Amino acid sequence: MTARPSVTELTAEDLAEVIELPVFRGRQILAWAERGVDRFEQMTDLPLALRATLPGKLRVFSSTVSETSVSPGKTNKLLIRMEDGALVECVLIPEGKRLTLCISSQVGCPAGCAFCASGLLGLTRSLKEHEIREQFFHAVRVAGGPDKITNVVIMGMGEPLLNFHPVVTAIRGLPLSGRRITLSTVGLPGGIRRLAAEGIKVNLAVSLHAPDDATRNRLVPVNRKIGIRAVVAAAREYFEATRRDVTFEYILIEGENASDLHADRLVRLLGRGNLNVNLIPMNPVESLPFRPPSEKRIEAFRERLVRAGIPTHVRRPRGREIDAACGQLRLKRLATDQG
Ligand code: SAH
Repeated sequence: MTARPSVTELTAEDLAEVIELPVFRGRQILAWAERGVDRFEQMTDLPLALRATLPGKLRVFSSTVSETSVSPGKTNKLLIRMEDGALVECVLIPEGKRLTLCISSQVGCPAGCAFCASGLLGLTRSLKEHEIREQFFHAVRVAGGPDKITNVVIMGMGEPLLNFHPVVTAIRGLPLSGRRITLSTVGLPGGIRRLAAEGIKVNLAVSLHAPDDATRNRLVPVNRKIGIRAVVAAAREYFEATRRDVTFEYILIEGENASDLHADRLVRLLGRGNLNVNLIPMNPVESLPFRPPSEKRIEAFRERLVRAGIPTHVRRPRGREIDAACGQLRLKRLATDQG
């Protein structure tokens, strides 16, 4: 392939070589890309003649935003097309003073969780490091500037710990400190330990979704080879090693994992400690039978955890109206694109 390289794939030094100019020109171009500017003609500190010749040698980004949609709550979904046509979504979620960007690590997902739309599709491929960073830069443009985005969650499509090096390198390339970044994993103990060893000190979210192996094996099939205790142990170790926030995500699904019995088992599994629980009422996914429990049940479940001393929050789904809420990414889109 003779495709022009994208700026985001190169270092300032590489860029300087491609354009046969001093390194500071490379740095200028990179700085524009990192501010989300996707056209060389807008890079106003470069000489006009240079701006005109750059498109012959380079692209700014390898991916393009093919669609954005805004829900009534002003949650913004960006559909991003990779150069091979693969589609991922990232979502901008405003919440008080925060603007959180949710980014994807893979196209599809190999984990196959029973309640998740991405899991239904299986894995198409992992994203490259620059493709992960480009989601951030596109969102910077949509959000209106580099300091608008205050937090990043790697909680979109894919299992980030199964795309380890690209994800870790992309995180290092983001202009945010680790404490503003959260990585969400299905709970792979080996990957969680490697992440702690990398020293990037991001917050960790572990998708637990069950209080015992029988329930978790059903909802999160990768648990069969791991076992829930190993997942909880790795999460604890991560907290000990990094002192960052560690949160267990627990989707509440009517008739599956939301009874008082499940709550009490969860209390016994987690014990007291510094680990938080986020309860997430299940987002309905078309073609899947699962539903969220009633408000009353959600509150009863939360209360049992809180009474046992476990810091627990209920996370309200955002972006449901545009199918951008957790577990809803991509399925509809694919159906209309390829169906
Ligand atoms: N693979 C990673 C990150 C992607 S999933 C992980 O498993 O954490 C991000 C979060 O969305 C996870 O907690 C996942 O379990 C949750 N999720 C998936 N489908 C959902 C649904 N239908 N309703 C609510 N949350 C869902």
